[in-house]
Amino acid sequence: MQEIYSKKVSQIPHSGIRHMFNLAAKYSDVIHLCIGEPDFSTPSFIIQKAYEAAKNGFTHYTTNAGILKLREAISKKYQKEQGIFYDPKEEILVTVGAMEALALTMMVILNPGDEGILSNPSWPNYEAHILLGDGKPVFVPVKEEEGWVMTVDRISDHLTSRTKAILINSPNNPTGAVYNLKQLEEIAKISLDRDIIVISDEAYEKIIYEERHHSIASFPELKERTIVINTFSKSYAMTGWRIGYALGNKKIIKEMTKLQEHIAACASSISQAAALVALQKGSSAVVKMVGEYKLRRSLLLEEIEKTPGFSCLPPKGTFYAFVNIKKLGENSSEVSLKLLKETRVVTVPGSAFGSGGEGYLRISFATSCEKIKLAFKRIRVALKNW
Ligand code: PLP
Repeated sequence: MQEIYSKKVSQIPHSGIRHMFNLAAKYSDVIHLCIGEPDFSTPSFIIQKAYEAAKNGFTHYTTNAGILKLREAISKKYQKEQGIFYDPKEEILVTVGAMEALALTMMVILNPGDEGILSNPSWPNYEAHILLGDGKPVFVPVKEEEGWVMTVDRISDHLTSRTKAILINSPNNPTGAVYNLKQLEEIAKISLDRDIIVISDEAYEKIIYEERHHSIASFPELKERTIVINTFSKSYAMTGWRIGYALGNKKIIKEMTKLQEHIAACASSISQAAALVALQKGSSAVVKMVGEYKLRRSLLLEEIEKTPGFSCLPPKGTFYAFVNIKKLGENSSEVSLKLLKETRVVTVPGSAFGSGGEGYLRISFATSCEKIKLAFKRIRVALKNW
């Protein structure tokens, strides 16, 4: 029989995050410090709005780009928070989560062999998205001692005549890094000098403790050459609603909207109604959740401090700590597996985010303080025998 899988799909790796999740399912009494989503339920007024929308018959396809009211609200948000105007009619596409927005972006901008620059370590899905777009992922190392950000020198070392895009993710999964204005300005300059498109994944924009979130698209010349990706998943605890969006150059958004018809038709109408009310009335709910993450982050940093062999650069944003475990002298998969078997604590090995994540564990603090304390109590007991 002929090979059933396409070459493209065969080269796309499985997610190492899911792998740990699946392994953990075999055990009982586990504490999940591997979760990439808020543990909070979606705020009840958002759920209520979705219920009303469904009950009132708002259950049909919408326009491919998403309902205009939602696009207008997104436009207002970026105008207010980042000082950038996106035309709701031409420069905004509502998508099935940020993931669909990223995949569509790559399909629209890349030709076979075009290179997309991303950091190593980085969220593994980016590599898959670039491969889906027939592009070539080019990994730029980022280092803990450099605050986990892509420096100009390191980016420059990886530029070629095929470089089409640079992907930045600030606040960053898995490292918690946040790019400051100067760092963004330097990347903006590379984009302009070398005519490179920037993809800016701002999924964690609200979950931030140090620095302020700046969108690279807010540099005037950058708006036209940046595709901003955002989502309701993390800020509003809406992962299961599958709703996100892309903002950018109207030519690119037009083509992404064309593909949207063939892939998803539109994002769920009910989720769109929910997302609209989230933008209109959700700010205090976001502040409350971020306040809770902040407390957990402090606790987690204290626990890491008390744990022999563990250290961590405090995350400036997200709900992840990227914990240095090099002193334990074992690779991150071994450590993660041993922790699961011996302590029932689930973490993600840094290597799941690329070779640059080796020597680290991603620990999520999207879980209660009690669970964080208990997990570290178990970890410290186990480590005594290692
Ligand atoms: N971008 C980053 C950096 C993420 O960590 C995630 C999810 O973990 C996403 C995008 C996906 O968001 P969505 O749920 O909107 O597809």
